[in-house]
Amino acid sequence: MRICRHVPPPDRDGTALGVTVTERIAVVGGGIAGASAAYFLVEAAPDSEVVLLEAEEHLAMHTTGRSAALLLENDGTRSIRSLVRASVDFLRGPPEELVDAPVVVPREVMHVGGPDQGGSIDRLLAENASGAIPTIEISADEARSRFPALRPEAVDRVALDTGAADIDVHGLHQAYLRGLRRAGGRVAASHRVDAAVSDGDGWRLETTGGNLTADVLVNTAGAWGDLVARRAGMPTVGLEPRRRTAFNVTGPGPEVAGWAMVADVDMRFYVKPDGTQLLCSLAEENPSEPCDARPEETDVALAIDRINAATTLGIRAVNSTWTGLRTFVPDRSMVIGPEPGRPSFVWCVGQGGTGIMTSPGAGRLVADLVLRGEPSGHFDDTGLVLDDVLPDRFRSPT
Ligand SMILES: Cc1cc2nc3c(=O)[nH]c(=O)nc-3n(C[C@H](O)[C@H](O)[C@H](O)COP(=O)(O)OP(=O)(O)OC[C@H]3O[C@@H](n4cnc5c(N)ncnc54)[C@H](O)[C@@H]3O)c2cc1C
Repeated sequence: MRICRHVPPPDRDGTALGVTVTERIAVVGGGIAGASAAYFLVEAAPDSEVVLLEAEEHLAMHTTGRSAALLLENDGTRSIRSLVRASVDFLRGPPEELVDAPVVVPREVMHVGGPDQGGSIDRLLAENASGAIPTIEISADEARSRFPALRPEAVDRVALDTGAADIDVHGLHQAYLRGLRRAGGRVAASHRVDAAVSDGDGWRLETTGGNLTADVLVNTAGAWGDLVARRAGMPTVGLEPRRRTAFNVTGPGPEVAGWAMVADVDMRFYVKPDGTQLLCSLAEENPSEPCDARPEETDVALAIDRINAATTLGIRAVNSTWTGLRTFVPDRSMVIGPEPGRPSFVWCVGQGGTGIMTSPGAGRLVADLVLRGEPSGHFDDTGLVLDDVLPDRFRSPT
């Protein structure tokens, strides 16, 4: 592959990379983070050469293909909420030419608490009072009209999110890829980046599919983000992959498709309609190495115990089970932006449990920081504080 012009050095005051046209940008990791970043990069700079490199033969087979597919506006840290705010317009109205069907469909979410969980319900209501669509309290009877299998004795108080939605994760991921390809970007599966060697201001990448050079490397490798950084000789950000197992069970009837999602307010379990099945989880967060995570029977059994205690579903068998790695840094905000002192290495990791719903905002922010050096006007009313997400917060001042 030909070597493109190198990125000019950053502005003296810090961040602008000055990438203009026909630069080559390698996005490493083909999950939702990489697909969205690559799409927004070519969308903002149609003349740039963008290649999305994925280690596996198929894209989105790790965490992106294993999520619960929920959009919940009132969730997570200040920066996560800002990124969700920056995402909802795209999720609700993606460019028509990129999708065959709506990407989101409304799904109410009920956070339920038993007699000893009133404090948690109060905390949640206070936290979410200022959301675009605030979380409100409803009665246990109203909750049962939305999820008739709730046991009356197990549910004392309920907080309701009406602004939530199911996301068609496959449709969204494909939309990004379609947009990327239409603008001339490339997708290279079976290209695991094993080394990234400094090449002037840019990079020479050694991959399982061949070597290439790039002016900018965007690290969207999910649970493997720190490993990719080490392979590039960059400092890490302390990513912590955490297992979460989910499984599908047959619901009591086709009517479950219209039920609300139920989540224990202290996240000890959740149940979400998935067609005529119910997607269930223990909502566990057990630390793991980056890997192709596999379910553990004990996590499934404990989830079934808790769900059967709170509902009349009487789950005895599961149809399918899977585990994904939700990857956090300790402050639970994402890490987005150029590495201080090496601006051609750009982070987009730490998506945790919100990487699908935040992907339009996170992808657009990556493109803004690479191409403009600062967030565009798109982020004006989102409440985004850039310092919350920049990798600079992990680097001690010299
Ligand atoms: C059970 C569960 C429920 C969830 N529910 C939700 C939800 O309701 N809503 C929501 O928004 N989020 C949810 N999430 C979180 C969401 O799935 C993640 O935040 C998101 O998928 C992370 O995407 P990613 O692209 O960062 O990671 P991944 O999808 O894991 O993609 C990273 C990719 O990088 C590739 N890679 C790694 N190393 C290399 C390398 N050296 N070279 C090339 N490629 C490499 C990997 O093969 C992988 O494909 C859930 C997650 C789980 C597990």
